[in-house]
Amino acid sequence: MSAQKQLYEGKAKIIYTTDNPEILLAYFKDDATAFNAQKRGSIAGKGEMNCTIAAYLFQLLEANGVPTHFIDCPAPGKMRVRALRILPLEVVVRNIAAGSLCQQTGLLVGTVLPQPLVEFFYKKDELGDPLLTRDRIMLLNLATPEQLDQLRSSALRINQILSDFFHQCGITLVDFKLEFGLDVQQQLLLADEISPDSCRLWDQAEADPDRRVMDKDRFRRDLGNVESAYQQVLERVQKGVEGRG
Ligand code: UDP
Repeated sequence: MSAQKQLYEGKAKIIYTTDNPEILLAYFKDDATAFNAQKRGSIAGKGEMNCTIAAYLFQLLEANGVPTHFIDCPAPGKMRVRALRILPLEVVVRNIAAGSLCQQTGLLVGTVLPQPLVEFFYKKDELGDPLLTRDRIMLLNLATPEQLDQLRSSALRINQILSDFFHQCGITLVDFKLEFGLDVQQQLLLADEISPDSCRLWDQAEADPDRRVMDKDRFRRDLGNVESAYQQVLERVQKGVEGRG
């Protein structure tokens, strides 16, 4: 199965059609963007690392009963996925306050939330991906009430599985962003990627607020050692998966 026509180029991936209309091929790029693409750069080896990390995490989720778009990785940095109609929503789950939650509420970075917080953002670059309310989601027909409830419970289940797994890897899962899509049977599947680009991951062995960062915040905030942080996540995830047998 080879790539045919380029369907879409996003900030971190290029999506190609294949000879099977139900299957797409995702090429993970080294390009990195932040602050709605106002900051641009490249992280050497990121594409291959994120693809491998995402593949491990999708398989972990599948093994725990969470349906995802993942099929396999035919080559480094390339992932075969099921073709879906992606919902224009970013589903963010937070365990610890960071990023936009702190900017918008005044909560201090690092505040442990009493329970995981699920938030929905409108996936629309030209509007700056604004925070949505349930009523706005209904108003804009972005999801049905049933789909919204399903997104929320699925996101919380994914958070449970990933938080436990990362904890075993010595990493705190602070927050992360998910995207979902519908297949032809209108089944909701987890899509996009889960990687240090889309998660905040803090090294449990580091107390220092800058040194503990193992994710794209190293790029966003010019903390340096971005590649080695991603590599460290990859190695720990790999070990964590092998440790589970
Ligand atoms: N996130 C993402 N893509 C986006 C926006 C956020 O992957 O377009 C991730 C981000 O890496 C973090 C979580 O979602 O793990 C929450 O991000 P937040 O809302 O705090 O936004 P930020 O201030 O980081 O842009």
